[in-house]
Amino acid sequence: MERALEGVSASPGVAIGPATILDRGGTAGAVVPPRRRREEISRARSALNAVAGELDAIASRLRREGRGGEADIVDTGVLMAGDPGFVERVEALVMSGLAAPDALRGAARETANALAALDDPTLALRADDVRSLGRRAAARAAGRNGTAREGILVADTLGPADVAELAGTATGIALAGGGVTSHAAIVARSLGLPMVIGLGGAVLDTQDGEEVVIDGDGGLFVRGPSVGRAASARDAVERTRAAREVAIAHRAEPAVTQDGRRIRVLANASTVAELEEALEQGAEGVGLMRTELLFLEARHWPAFELQVQVMRPVLARLAGQVATVRLFDFGADKTPPFLQGVKKRGIEILLDAPDVLQTHTRAVIEAGQGTQLRVLVPMVGTAAQMRAVRQFVDAGVQVGAMIETPEAAACAIEIARVSDFLSIGTNDLTQLVLGLDREQSRRAPVMDARVLRLIAQTMRAARQASIPVDVCGEAASDPAALPVMVGFGADELSVAAARVGQTRERVRSLNYTVCETEAARLLGEAGHASRERV
Ligand code: PEP
Ligand code: MG
Repeated sequence: MERALEGVSASPGVAIGPATILDRGGTAGAVVPPRRRREEISRARSALNAVAGELDAIASRLRREGRGGEADIVDTGVLMAGDPGFVERVEALVMSGLAAPDALRGAARETANALAALDDPTLALRADDVRSLGRRAAARAAGRNGTAREGILVADTLGPADVAELAGTATGIALAGGGVTSHAAIVARSLGLPMVIGLGGAVLDTQDGEEVVIDGDGGLFVRGPSVGRAASARDAVERTRAAREVAIAHRAEPAVTQDGRRIRVLANASTVAELEEALEQGAEGVGLMRTELLFLEARHWPAFELQVQVMRPVLARLAGQVATVRLFDFGADKTPPFLQGVKKRGIEILLDAPDVLQTHTRAVIEAGQGTQLRVLVPMVGTAAQMRAVRQFVDAGVQVGAMIETPEAAACAIEIARVSDFLSIGTNDLTQLVLGLDREQSRRAPVMDARVLRLIAQTMRAARQASIPVDVCGEAASDPAALPVMVGFGADELSVAAARVGQTRERVRSLNYTVCETEAARLLGEAGHASRERV
């Protein structure tokens, strides 16, 4: 019998396979009798030792792969597993009657909450590592292997150590908790891993190894799938796999239209896992590194050293290649705890805090050493803002403006004259022009005449100023919008890592002259439509 749980889609696509349970609800209410508590303590201790060894192995692998920054993060778990204070707390919880798995999870939760409440941003960022340690150790103590295996990961939440493993092992992710903006959700989307969140505690009742279907488009998690559902899920998986193989096989072919217009295809990537997928699919560099996503849980502006430590592992892999690093775009749905209540967004927030902007630009330049670094300014509204930012960036480093508000598009020519390149953020632009709620809306109608007109106007401004123009919003890989972006004259398309290959293929299938004519026709209609509305 099928049992479907409804959640919220955090990453599209379909997967079918055995479930790997990383979290299990507590053994609520089961009190361990006093005579068995010593035995329970040694179970908890050996689980911690086993997990310390496991995390150590992950850290060593990351170091061998040149991912020292991530290895250091995973090492925090190793240290915590042996921390006398932590072990004492686990023992105290067992002595109070909790079973080893519950005591491990409980002690980890307490420690994570205490870390998250500290005034030290470095330690606050480690809270997820501790939760991850507790989860892994609890799984061990319950007799299961806590590491990710081939299959669909089922968990309450996911921490950085789990995310570091995701790329090679998981085929889908189902979470009881929320977090469309969680670290895991971002990586999942970019890697093309289907993910559904907000499924509630019932998803944790799934048995390890049980066959499940995850439908990241419909926000569904299905236990005991019917024969029909299983067959169509397998078909969907196979189609996606075949398309990726084709894209990788052709990755060396240039992204040139049939009539010879060269388009640079870059990736939107903020983590090593995303970047690796993007490069495998033939990305010619990074067109958008969303730095703010790496600090969403910060409790203070992150210090210079922490910023470099977090950004460097990604940028180190882009030696000699284009690395477009966007300055922190905090605000709205990307507001860390220390900016709660702030109404401004993007560059406005940074310009209000010149010391912060100074530290941030220095950290970006330091972390981007050896790359063709381009600094991208989010939510620009005026040319004056661009001039102000330039004072914080060394001469010789390119500075570009995101055009993602109607105000910016209206003065795109002034902004273009003081920028080295423009990048069109069609996600915010569409939402703002049409007055949609970006988080709630399931549609992003970038092809609306009012949006297209502003995009075309921005591309014209870039051409007049003789600077390149990039599209880094979802429109860059949207099958319907991509040819229009090319037709308007986009020089670069920056797309999610998982879509780099298919975007390159799509460019090769296009005829630029046809795209130009079609885009002009749409614009003519756009002009007509807007005149009618006046
Ligand atoms: C955009 O708005 O299109 C964009 C690329 O920026 P973000 O999605 O990060 O807001
Ligand atoms: Mg944006």
